[in-house]
Amino acid sequence: VETILEVNDLHVSFPTYGGTVKAVRGVNFTLKKGETLAIVGESGCGKTVTSESIMRLTTGDIVKGAILFNGHDLATLPEKELRKIRGSDISMIFQDPMTSLNPTITIGSQLIEGITQHTHKSKSEAKEVALEMLDLVGIANPSERLKQYPHQFSGGMRQRIMIAMSLVCNPSVLIADEPTTALDVTIQAQILELFKKIQKETGVSIILITHDLGVVAQVADRIAIMYAGKVVEIGNRQEIFYRPQHPYTRGLLRSVPRIDKEEEALIPIPGTPPDLFSPPKGCPFMARCDQAMEVCDHYYPLTSHINDHHKVDCWLQDERAKKVTFATKG
Ligand code: SF4
Repeated sequence: VETILEVNDLHVSFPTYGGTVKAVRGVNFTLKKGETLAIVGESGCGKTVTSESIMRLTTGDIVKGAILFNGHDLATLPEKELRKIRGSDISMIFQDPMTSLNPTITIGSQLIEGITQHTHKSKSEAKEVALEMLDLVGIANPSERLKQYPHQFSGGMRQRIMIAMSLVCNPSVLIADEPTTALDVTIQAQILELFKKIQKETGVSIILITHDLGVVAQVADRIAIMYAGKVVEIGNRQEIFYRPQHPYTRGLLRSVPRIDKEEEALIPIPGTPPDLFSPPKGCPFMARCDQAMEVCDHYYPLTSHINDHHKVDCWLQDERAKKVTFATKG
């Protein structure tokens, strides 16, 4: 399958008075045409910074790396060129639709403005597209709904409107950052179903950012697990759920509720991620890992290819770990 977006060795830092926060530290992944790639991790792992960097909306500095899309490197593309891509070829949905919708303007005007801004369509053509999009996202009675204001919609309906807005320019990539976190469980499931339906109908590629592996089980084709600014494991859904290799991924899976094993207690991962002002030179998960070895303290693990669909950064999977020798201390 054709690759639509490729992130190579991305590094993003935030200079602060107290020092530089290295939020993203050498991230690599590809997004294939028509797939959903989930980026999963705890807050502060760099998943949102990574997704915002793709649109160059991050307030951090992209210090190194490339973001390849349609023959352009988005990391270095002039702002004027980037503006043409942002919102039309690549579009983004945020967690809380209320902060992205203007409460004083009708849904119809907001949708139509979005369309006329990014395309050469007239107002009446834009209205047609707006109606089509509301219908696509499952909003009944779209011509009446166009005249209403955001507060007249429920949280789930507002998220549907945001999804409609993100689709008006027929993007090839959709980035959704925690799109269901603010919603209750039933509505969450409906929104995730909606993503699947839209993908089937439009062929859009989706990057889904979430802290919740449970959300991912329903929709993701592939999953990238991020920890302390790095992708520590990446693989297709079956591999990640049934053959997780990284102790952190296993920990995340143990903390996901399962319907089939009701009595099983959920086990949170003890400890906290490392300080990203001065990240450890070895494996950043070491302080929380019950299988850590001496080599983990000295070197960041090299990427091991478990198979064609599965890669992991952990010394446990690397034969070479046994051969590493250390200078004796003192
Ligand atoms: Fe644990 Fe070592 Fe693997 Fe890191 S590299 S996850 S410390 S075993």
